[in-house]
Amino acid sequence: MPIATVNPANGETLKTYEAMDEEELERRLRLAEATFRTYRTTAFADRARLLNRAADLLDEDGAEIARVMTTEMGKPVRQARAEAAKCAKAMRWYAEHAPELLADERPAESDVKDSGASHALVRYRPLGPVLAVMPWNFPLWQVVRFAAPALMAGNVGLLKHASNVPQTALYLEDLFHRAGFTEGCFQTLLIGSGAVDEILRDERIRAATLTGSEPAGRAVAATAGQMVKKTVLELGGSDPFVVMPSADVDRAAEVAVTARVQNNGQSCIAAKRFIVHSDVYDRFAERFTEGMKALKVGDPLEEETEVGPLASERGRADLEELVDDARRSGATVLCGGERPDGPGWYYPPTVLAGIDREMRIHREEAFGPVATLYRAADLDEAVLIANDSPFGLSSNVWTREAAEVDRFVRDLEAGGVYVNGMTASHPAFPFGGVKRSGYGRELSGHGIREFCNITTVWHG
Ligand code: NAP
Repeated sequence: MPIATVNPANGETLKTYEAMDEEELERRLRLAEATFRTYRTTAFADRARLLNRAADLLDEDGAEIARVMTTEMGKPVRQARAEAAKCAKAMRWYAEHAPELLADERPAESDVKDSGASHALVRYRPLGPVLAVMPWNFPLWQVVRFAAPALMAGNVGLLKHASNVPQTALYLEDLFHRAGFTEGCFQTLLIGSGAVDEILRDERIRAATLTGSEPAGRAVAATAGQMVKKTVLELGGSDPFVVMPSADVDRAAEVAVTARVQNNGQSCIAAKRFIVHSDVYDRFAERFTEGMKALKVGDPLEEETEVGPLASERGRADLEELVDDARRSGATVLCGGERPDGPGWYYPPTVLAGIDREMRIHREEAFGPVATLYRAADLDEAVLIANDSPFGLSSNVWTREAAEVDRFVRDLEAGGVYVNGMTASHPAFPFGGVKRSGYGRELSGHGIREFCNITTVWHG
């Protein structure tokens, strides 16, 4: 894939970049290693000051960088501004909380004594340069949720961003420099995915984090495994959204629309499979389909636009194939399902009913505004359908019955259970999945400790 900004709203190539050559990459790796040697000794207060400054700058730049993101990957500009604001908030959160999240831990006195120590502690020390391989869908947020904790922990970062968001990638490097971080603390590597393997094998890279598709995760994890390097993988999702009879069905249908089409439907934690109890199925299906039909699809730079184009021509073709496969196998199209004529990679909000296990869309991730509806006879069947997926990122359940909530929390195979609401990440809550959605966690104390050397200090 060329490293370029291609506007998804009209297919126009706006800017292309040369990939960095070996010499430049070597210079950057050397700089990362050298910077880490000193940066790791800095105080939390100094790191926090720089990160807070980065947050202030990002707030100032919000409108402008939002337009850049929108022209690179097509998200509605209002959502792009919200993403920038969320990044600033996460930076401030880590600046404030990192010292307590990484404070020395004291084991229980009885255990210290039992080990024969006079005293002992656990210290969270940084690991070193971390390679971050990131996707285009939340081009700022995916990076910041790695970078903010990594920098607060004393690590340095090297970003390999998706090839279609180079301007956002370069903006991030510039942002951290302007905030006062020394040059080697956060660097963007303009490279294609083919160059990742060699960099990951370099001894100076100590660990890697990847957010993206399953094939990319598999490739990075395989190399990291050979090199015995820690990885965190945040991969795809096909989250269930379960509606039970006691739920506020109209409200559930309204939230379901947002949960499905946020970011033009290209979010790993978007609800994708809607599993509805028979007693409320017809009402939910009607309200949900009405809501999907009413969405304003159009130019993502327009303020009122709710759904813009997909990020790439390939992405639209992949989505179309999933819908066509389902239709051929007997699914009913309640709305959408036909690409519009004209420029840009638009695809309409689409609802499919009558899904069965053999359809590709049942097992694969629909990365665009396409929802699948399932009818469940009871809670047991709802749980079965929800778990009948290779993915396990998050889940949404709508019910007012406490016993049902307990069952879902006990049985759903996912890294999150959101009750009477939709999944949204927050700096204070761990984020990540099980099964083929990946492993490890980002955000919260769990996220910042992923790339730490958890060190036992024992005194005789
Ligand atoms: P992608 O094609 O996997 O790309 C993600 C990143 O990996 C890009 O930087 C890409 O570089 C790189 N890459 C691709 N193949 C690689 C390989 N073999 N070795 C090393 N690097 C490789 O994914 P995407 O299309 O950008 O993003 C969509 C996917 O990400 C969806 O499945 C979505 O669910 C998932 N996602 C997950 C989360 C989460 O938190 N769990 C969040 C957002 C998105 P190039 O661009 O140069 O190919």
